Amino acid sequence: MRSAVLSVGTEILFGQITNTNSVYISQQLNLLGFDVLYHYTVGDNDGRLSEMVDLAFKDCDLIITSGGLGPTEDDMTKETVCKVMGDNLVEHEPSMEALVEGSKKLGHKLTENNYKQAMMPSKATVFDNDAGSAPGFALEKNGKIIICMPGPPREMTRMFQRRVKPFLEKYQDKAIYYKTLRFFGKGESSLETDLLDLIDAQKDPTIATYAKEGECTVRVASKRDTLEEAKKAVADTTDIIVSRLGQYIYSIDDEELVQVVGRKLLEKGITISCAESCTGGMFAETLTSVPGISEVFDRGLVTYTANAKIDELGVREDTITKHTVYSAEVAKEMAAGLYEKTGSNICVSITGIAGPGGEMPGKPVGLIYIGCAFAGDVKVREVHMRNVSRNWNRHYAVLSMLDMVN
Ligand code: ATP
Ligand code: MG
Repeated sequence: MRSAVLSVGTEILFGQITNTNSVYISQQLNLLGFDVLYHYTVGDNDGRLSEMVDLAFKDCDLIITSGGLGPTEDDMTKETVCKVMGDNLVEHEPSMEALVEGSKKLGHKLTENNYKQAMMPSKATVFDNDAGSAPGFALEKNGKIIICMPGPPREMTRMFQRRVKPFLEKYQDKAIYYKTLRFFGKGESSLETDLLDLIDAQKDPTIATYAKEGECTVRVASKRDTLEEAKKAVADTTDIIVSRLGQYIYSIDDEELVQVVGRKLLEKGITISCAESCTGGMFAETLTSVPGISEVFDRGLVTYTANAKIDELGVREDTITKHTVYSAEVAKEMAAGLYEKTGSNICVSITGIAGPGGEMPGKPVGLIYIGCAFAGDVKVREVHMRNVSRNWNRHYAVLSMLDMVN
């Protein structure tokens, strides 16, 4: 189906809010195998909205709108769409009941304009809203469909998943299957270069690379007559990519790196502790986002100063004097000291320069050393980060630590 996403709201045109709804809806439509041809944005204006709907229907069979379904004067998506589609508004009983029930529960008194939200186009398929008060709806005419959803992202995404997606699945003529492979330690352009022959040679599955905060993902997607065919095609292409670049892939199921690491530690019952300098506790914070990690995560120390590294981890003063605090030797002694102190199976350490200042001769901003003690051996990795900003460096440093533990 050829589709368009239409966002309604003057605040989007003013630049007061970011149009995240259009991103979400577009992604979802693509996952369903519908082609998204246009994104339109229009203010809360009856005339321009109807013009947009007419325009979008020239090329598309499906329009999905968000915004302007609320009870106030400026919310007029429903009225306008109803008019364009040649329908009229009637009271929709289930919506009225939900409205009355909802207001009772919250102890709100319904105002006159609230009742407007229970008026629906007479021929509409109504989508209830369990996260807010404005229902959405679908209206079809001469093979054209328009679906209207409320603006608040939490309401819109819930309505999409619960009601709109099952509604649209009826119109899917092909089966879609995809896998998202996640990479660390390889830039997007180098990744694309390594896959270019595949990307160029095949139309299905499609292979698309995306860069995301220091990581890369590759989406392998297939659209076939049956789900089995699509799955098979995706699996074959995934195998080729894994055989080429497996060393950089940490998940073929779109998992976060920390979740992969946490799962492995938990499965194998491997205990872990960390000693952090430039990341200031971010590694521990990230690791504790994994449910159940308390079974294996013993402790995290933030040893920020040279003294803290000496006192807490037994780093030798002359190691620091000789090599500076930003050195492989210090990272190694930090990990070894923590290993001795805690007895955790893995002890990971980090020292480096998050910036923007603080560089030394031969030690640029973005240089980090990660130590990792495991099974009586301590390895150290030197990483040169791109130095985008202090926080980006810290974020990337944590990913590097996770990658080393993985
Ligand atoms: P309400 O009942 O809250 O008035 P509504 O369906 O009338 O809902 P709008 O009034 O257009 O929706 O928008 C309500 C809020 O939802 C906006 O202030 C904004 O925070 C959010 N919102 C609306 N459209 C978008 C969008 N395209 N992307 C992200 N957020 C949006
Ligand atoms: Mg509104």
